[in-house]
Amino acid sequence: KVSEKPDSGGSRILVFVRVRPMAKKEKEAGSRCCVKIVNRRDLYLTEFANENDYLRLKRLRGRHFTFNASFPDNATQQEVYSTTIADLVEAVLQGRNGSVFCYGATGAGKTYTMLGTVENPGVMVLAIKDLFNKIRQRSSDGNHTVHLSYLEVYNETVRDLLSPGRPLVLREDKQGMVAAGLTQYRAYSTDEVMAMLQQGNQNRTTEPTRANETSSRSHAILQVVVEYRVKDAGMNVVKRVGKLSLIDLAGSERALATDQRTLRSLEGANINRSLLALSSCINALVEGKKHIPFRNSKLTQLLKDSLGGACNTVMIANISPSNLSFGETQNTLHWADRAK
Ligand code: ADP
Ligand code: MG
Repeated sequence: KVSEKPDSGGSRILVFVRVRPMAKKEKEAGSRCCVKIVNRRDLYLTEFANENDYLRLKRLRGRHFTFNASFPDNATQQEVYSTTIADLVEAVLQGRNGSVFCYGATGAGKTYTMLGTVENPGVMVLAIKDLFNKIRQRSSDGNHTVHLSYLEVYNETVRDLLSPGRPLVLREDKQGMVAAGLTQYRAYSTDEVMAMLQQGNQNRTTEPTRANETSSRSHAILQVVVEYRVKDAGMNVVKRVGKLSLIDLAGSERALATDQRTLRSLEGANINRSLLALSSCINALVEGKKHIPFRNSKLTQLLKDSLGGACNTVMIANISPSNLSFGETQNTLHWADRAK
């Protein structure tokens, strides 16, 4: 008899996959689609996926995956938001922490999912919009305050995306790990937020050779902190705090490339320590381990209070539909599968 996974102390990780539309470049290169979603959950990865074969055989040959939901290339930003994150926003309003990650290779759609465009705002913006709506519905007394911070981890250096400058130092205090001097932006409405996030995204580190493209090694973290006051059983007014972290992770292709190498050469290259450390923490959480190795990277130190325990964690794995990215897609799906 297969034993149940050990109880991970109330923490749960929901894992979703989003397939982006085929890019013009991929079409021009004659690529075929190697991903097929057959219902809202099941996804097949096959090198020979072909609509006719599928219709004829009523089944696909290839590797089968099941996730909490699989989003096809025509899924809207709102659909992705409602299915993956809306519950976390509700939990934050009850004083709980949560985190949302977009994982995948460079070009797979992570930033589109997180930030989106002015016409199609991504889940970062939709979460904040929903948060303000929910606050408006539940309180007329102006009881809630919302603060935003937006930061980057690049080569184990932490930077403030809202106020670029010198690297920030991480310090442990009563509330957990904090980046000293990080801008806490008091937000009053959604309108200002998109522009602010776009600007912050512009401040992400770029590769010297590709000055206009965000470095594939940069992790961007938006933290939304909600504070409010409630009366406890003894009618004393107490402060509650909930925090939602939304993370646009570095491209996973480098992590996968370095995964097989020794730790020493990884440290020499100093890349993706944070991504590998995150994987270790997720694996430890999934296995129900007592010790979660948060200390191994800046990213995991920053997220220590938002992963595991009573926190909700959401993983969105982004993939290209093209067979030209088959290897990367396979790696991403295996990674996502292990996080369940
Ligand atoms: P990543 O951040 O993972 O490197 P991007 O989010 O920048 O990838 O996506 C690469 C390209 O694909 C961008 O031009 C983006 O606008 C487009 N794209 C990604 N996902 C979608 C989607 N779901 N719908 C439409 N365009 C998308
Ligand atoms: Mg990106």
